[in-house]
Amino acid sequence: MTPLLSVSRLTRRFGGLMAVNGVSFDIAEGEVVGLLGPNGSGKTTALNMISGAMKPSGGEIQLRGEQIGGVSSHRIARKGIARTFQLVRVLPSLTVDENVVAALAFRGEPLWGDAARREADELLHRVGLGGRGGEAAEQLTYIDQKRVELARALAARPALLLLDEWLAGLNPTELRTGIGLIASLRDTGITILLVEHVMEAVRSLCARCVVMNAGSKIADGDTAGVLADPEVVRAYLGT
Ligand code: ADP
Repeated sequence: MTPLLSVSRLTRRFGGLMAVNGVSFDIAEGEVVGLLGPNGSGKTTALNMISGAMKPSGGEIQLRGEQIGGVSSHRIARKGIARTFQLVRVLPSLTVDENVVAALAFRGEPLWGDAARREADELLHRVGLGGRGGEAAEQLTYIDQKRVELARALAARPALLLLDEWLAGLNPTELRTGIGLIASLRDTGITILLVEHVMEAVRSLCARCVVMNAGSKIADGDTAGVLADPEVVRAYLGT
């Protein structure tokens, strides 16, 4: 079967630096895959290329067999890839539901008016913000802003959701809630690629992990095996 996402010999150079160096991996429909690696290993650069925020220097990216490498981010979003960012991006001057309604207006099949409000309500329920649509986005706690960002990403009805350290900065209680929320999305069948440093989250959410180090892929397989791989352990310890 054609994988949902296929990344092949993906490369990105910054001057003399190979930030991503010939990385290949596939993601099947319905998988939740962790993209791991120490700081500076190229994970965000890889996500940026997959989401269209950055052009590859080389290699290919295919979504359901269609070439999307170098395609603009808004066109990629319409083809079914949505993402969240390491630094939360909500529209602070709008209310919670206006944030989601705005995202619905910009998707491939835009929704407006009452239909958009109803869909926004449903999305807010899905991320644990049911009944809170009237609140000002800038007044929300950090985790609730992250929930809004997730609802905005889901507004595109993505086939593939890219989460860039979505769980970073949460306290232990929020972390458990956050893991539960991502698990609930996984259980609806959405395919997820997550860059994550929180190992508790990786272990409970990802059946499979891809590990990068210094721009190259060093491991790809079931999570327990990958985390026990001596090369992966060495990369994290920097020895
Ligand atoms: P990670 O997400 O794994 O921490 P990044 O993809 O952010 O790694 O960075 C990989 C490497 O590319 C790092 O050495 C980083 O300094 C470099 N890099 C990332 N973005 C840029 C950029 N826009 N310009 C120059 N160098 C960059």
